[in-house]
Amino acid sequence: MATPNEQAIRQVVQEVLAQLGKQMKAESTKPHRDGDWGVFKTVDGAVSAATEAFRKLSESPMAHRVKAIECVKQICEQQADELGRLEMEETKIGRLDHKIEKLKIIKLVPGVEYLRTDAYSGDHGLTVVEYAPFGVIGAITPVTHSLPTLAGNVVNMVAGGNTMVVNPHPSGARIACEGVRRFNQAIYKATGLENLITIIETPTLETAAAIFEHRGVKLLCVTGGPAVARAAMQSRKKAVVAGPGNPPVVVDETACLENTARSIVKGASYDNNLLCIGEKEVFAVESIFDDLMETMSRHKAFRLNDRQIADLTKIAFTPPKDAKDHYHVNKEYVGSDATALAEAIGVRVPADTELLYGETDESNPFVPEEQMMPFVPFVRSRNVNHAIEQALEYEHGFRHTSLIHSRNVRNMTKMGREMDTTLFIKNGPCGAGLGLGGEGYLSFSIATPTGEGVTNPLTFTRVRRCVLVDDLRVI
Ligand code: NAD
Repeated sequence: MATPNEQAIRQVVQEVLAQLGKQMKAESTKPHRDGDWGVFKTVDGAVSAATEAFRKLSESPMAHRVKAIECVKQICEQQADELGRLEMEETKIGRLDHKIEKLKIIKLVPGVEYLRTDAYSGDHGLTVVEYAPFGVIGAITPVTHSLPTLAGNVVNMVAGGNTMVVNPHPSGARIACEGVRRFNQAIYKATGLENLITIIETPTLETAAAIFEHRGVKLLCVTGGPAVARAAMQSRKKAVVAGPGNPPVVVDETACLENTARSIVKGASYDNNLLCIGEKEVFAVESIFDDLMETMSRHKAFRLNDRQIADLTKIAFTPPKDAKDHYHVNKEYVGSDATALAEAIGVRVPADTELLYGETDESNPFVPEEQMMPFVPFVRSRNVNHAIEQALEYEHGFRHTSLIHSRNVRNMTKMGREMDTTLFIKNGPCGAGLGLGGEGYLSFSIATPTGEGVTNPLTFTRVRRCVLVDDLRVI
């Protein structure tokens, strides 16, 4: 028989245990705050928080998706100066004015208004087709537009009812994490929802691989160059792949040369040619070649001579190691200013120069390589058919973006058919292909090898059919 003392001890122990049990239960149902507003150290932590967030989002009204997207668009617009500067300071590539602009235009990315419901009504009743979320989406983002890509992905993916785990590019991770913190804080304040966006604080190839493999991740969306595009295509999960490009421009004898030159400078100099859709090489027909070169110089472009081009090529690329290899861009000059590029080869250009250009032949590595520098090589073509052939060869079958300047619809049609690219832009700068001066909507992820095109909320949904037999056709 227990003494009164032992009985008292037992009671205390039981009370402590009961209290502890209650506490543990409360802990397990507590929202994932360990993530510092969505920023996580591990893939498991991020996916588990995003999974919980998905469950909560699924139980929430559509109005919460609308509010969450509004938060992201507002932050991008109102804090663009600060966030753009932070992105520029961290990545050190591109142009500050365009870093800021790329955030301000996130408001043009379509949200829930893009969703729809389809219906079939007939003798056998009513069938409704709904666009449902996948769940947690694994997103890989590039250094060329770290926060803009992430923000655009959030708008599209959350509109579709999904949550996210993001593996940003290591050289743009700090700004991506800062954006995620700000988005999640605002979304929590507006809706009470947490961790709609989760992100890996220190991303590596291993964390990317862990996301590719994770059972909790239902869909991948990868925006980047050849290596990551290949890795995603080989993954066992469904992947939306926004891969690399090398957009050629064809100019025929009917083109308006003023508009052509203005467009090439505008497109290729944008963020110092970091855009995957940016004009990377020009094939212009012999009869207008010299006039076009002359016209370029009136649009803040500076022409380099043969020796200067040779000097630039030498510093801009590392030569192939063997016959199977190709030239590699020197990262030091990717996204640098045209003036800095000129200075690197000892050429002084006017301070307002936006683009360097010059005549090369096809064998210059600026033609085949996706160089992402504000120097555009111009190659002389015998005629429009020859120019289209060259464009086809140097686009490398990425089927990403191609452009033509022409007033001849036959030439446009021929090139459009032969190139078979996701974006085909005529008589404007590359941005026109994303709704910036052309018709259509904006996204920073253009799915090329997997074929979804310029991504939108429907890209990130599963098509579900709900059938009622023989009833509810009320007409
Ligand atoms: P990148 O390929 O170096 O990096 C992209 C992302 O993939 C980064 O997050 C990187 O860490 C990751 N990554 C790289 N190799 C990987 C691998 N083997 N496995 C897993 N993850 C990997 O590209 P970048 O320099 O950041 O961006 C420029 C490239 O992205 C260009 O080729 C450009 O054309 C392309 N891009 C395409 C689109 C599009 O919409 N199609 C948009 C922007 C950029």
